[in-house]
Amino acid sequence: CGIVGYIGPKSIESVLLVGLQKLEYRGYDSAGMAVLNGDELATRKAVGKIIELEKQLKNQPILGSAGIAHTRWATHGEPSMTNAHPHLSGHRDIAVVHNGIFENYAKLKAELIDDGHVFLSETDTEVAPHLMEKYVHEGFSTEEAFVRMLKRVEGQYAVAAISEKDSKKIYFARKGSPLIIAKGNNEYLIASDIPAVVPIAHEAIYLEEEQWGYISSSGVSIFTLGGEPVPPKWQPVAFKE
Ligand code: GLU
Repeated sequence: CGIVGYIGPKSIESVLLVGLQKLEYRGYDSAGMAVLNGDELATRKAVGKIIELEKQLKNQPILGSAGIAHTRWATHGEPSMTNAHPHLSGHRDIAVVHNGIFENYAKLKAELIDDGHVFLSETDTEVAPHLMEKYVHEGFSTEEAFVRMLKRVEGQYAVAAISEKDSKKIYFARKGSPLIIAKGNNEYLIASDIPAVVPIAHEAIYLEEEQWGYISSSGVSIFTLGGEPVPPKWQPVAFKE
């Protein structure tokens, strides 16, 4: 279970694949990524080792300018293509990756199904893109929809989200699972752990509990759940390989 996200000029799929490989030690049963090319979202998933995802990408490469990736350690729903992350909204324009557990997912899922949302997986994670979609349909921006989703889910998590409607940002948040933000040269990353960003990053921020924000190609913004801006505390990336 690991998360990597990248926005910048390098090949998104290679940066994300290398990042996932560096997080392999955390254990996983499947992997996947979602990439924004302009404002078009594409996803690739594979069951098993990262090499399986790599093979998929060889057959069907994805180009883009921002992306998020995931290694899954299943807690809700067997390891399978359908249950692998990223999970998408009904219109397939919002993608979410998630580590941890949304404890109240059953209640949220029932509410969303009542609203007409159709679920494809058995995961707790899939409520997140559907909640965001619900709030976007109610007229909220992607940013507001992300925060509203965070306020609805209970449990321990790290999450990252991208959307076709807000295609120059990667949203992130944590509560109980680690997440770091890192920067290289005109490029920003998020990851579950430092090794995933070491090849690229000079500096990193250890995101604190119940903080969220977004990276773009020009910077990072971090907030508390209450909406207070958090000044970024950059630290040198300590260990190189
Ligand atoms: N609970 C989620 C799932 O089962 C995320 C598991 C993880 O941390 O990889 O899909």
